[in-house]
Amino acid sequence: MPLRRERARDGRLAWCRGEMFDPVLIANRGEVAVRVIRACRELGIGTVAVYSTADADSEHVRMADLAVCIGPPQPAESYLNIASVIAAATTTGCGAVHPGWGFLAEHASFARACEDNGLVFIGPTPEAIEVMGDKIRARSVMSAAGVPVVPGSPGPVDLSAAAAFAEEVGYPVLLKATAGGGGRGMRLVEDASTLADAYTVAAGEAEAAFSSADLYIEKALLKARHVEVQVVCDGAGAVATFGERDCSVQRRHQKLIEEAPSPGVSAAMRASLEETARGACLEIGYRGAGTLEFLAVPGDAFFFIEMNTRLQVEHPVTELITGVDLVHAQLAIAAGEGLPAELGSRRGHALEVRINAEDPARNFMPTPGTIERFRPPLGPGVRVDTHIVDGYVVPPFYDSLLAKVIVHAADRQRALERAVRALNELEIVGVPTTREFAIEVLQHPQFASGNYTTQFLELHGPELVAPSSA
Ligand code: ADP
Repeated sequence: MPLRRERARDGRLAWCRGEMFDPVLIANRGEVAVRVIRACRELGIGTVAVYSTADADSEHVRMADLAVCIGPPQPAESYLNIASVIAAATTTGCGAVHPGWGFLAEHASFARACEDNGLVFIGPTPEAIEVMGDKIRARSVMSAAGVPVVPGSPGPVDLSAAAAFAEEVGYPVLLKATAGGGGRGMRLVEDASTLADAYTVAAGEAEAAFSSADLYIEKALLKARHVEVQVVCDGAGAVATFGERDCSVQRRHQKLIEEAPSPGVSAAMRASLEETARGACLEIGYRGAGTLEFLAVPGDAFFFIEMNTRLQVEHPVTELITGVDLVHAQLAIAAGEGLPAELGSRRGHALEVRINAEDPARNFMPTPGTIERFRPPLGPGVRVDTHIVDGYVVPPFYDSLLAKVIVHAADRQRALERAVRALNELEIVGVPTTREFAIEVLQHPQFASGNYTTQFLELHGPELVAPSSA
């Protein structure tokens, strides 16, 4: 059945209206679901939320037109339960499913289950998810497409092969889970004496997280920046690139602060990054929104590390500098509308700060509990993406992200000042958060200089002894 396009009463083109597409089921929770519901609302598309019993009182449940309980709190029994999510979509007459990011967004079997049940999966093909979800396959596909990749083993390695590789390319090296994600199953190995232990720990972590203990090994590039290119493709030869984001401020390989454009990327390097990303997407016939992640080293060289076949947490910084709503773009592509006509010129600088329910004074331990008071920052150039409200109870079952404070200003210096102003205005009372820690990062001379690498927090974290704000 073809997709229908309709004019809304006000003459606006209402994308995706029609039997197949309206409503859309949002297979996610928290700020992710809220973000997607907002985009659907703007386009006049109905929404169906799913929720676990722990989230019955959540903002995404309130905001959606309809909400379906899909199980108990444990993710495996609710948000990761493909049969329950599909049943929620089909029994409510949904035409499409938006996976958000996290949970099932990068499960090829979920994309396939959607297709098998006549639901449009708002994302790439299951095949693309599969290939990019296997880091070894992704590296070989990218390499074949002419993309420079970090030197690494061509396949999974056992301990002796890992040792041989490390001797050949030299320490430090990085052990990575082939099915990895979220920094899990990843261990930096500085020298031969710690390789065996690191291998055992990484393999155990990989087995626990991904049900596969397979590891491969890469040269570790330590004086590098994490730079990633946002792409949106229609799957039929049109590829748009939206510049880069810098996500080098990381704790245990988890991003904390992101900015666009990267202060370490020259115009020439940007052109080269975008051309490389475009070529790779054309080569693999990619469809939908995605991100190619690179490590950039001094001398303007960059190496592919992985591709995320979904939207990312930090997509708003790109939206703020380009003026493009990436969730709208995803919906349009899934509806067969192609790329946005207005791709947006880039302007100014954007910064995103993740505010987590974690206690920096206690090694960033998660701090579930009740938000007694929440006052988001307001004023010029400030956007807050969040699902929390006064009285919200942060459950212990999911990730600890409470809110993203995103700012836009004419240049980096003003964006920094605005971010600090906004974070000072932000009030979250009830649970310790990373708010004050983030302020210290923003004000650190090394971060302020723009000259920092993925090692920033390892090197300077101990100086940032801000008490958590509760
Ligand atoms: P995940 O999928 O678990 O997020 P990635 O492969 O994207 O893992 O890597 C996460 C982070 O780990 C990167 O942003 C970077 O900081 C660091 N990293 C990854 N590969 C390397 C490498 N070869 N050398 C140094 N750091 C790396």
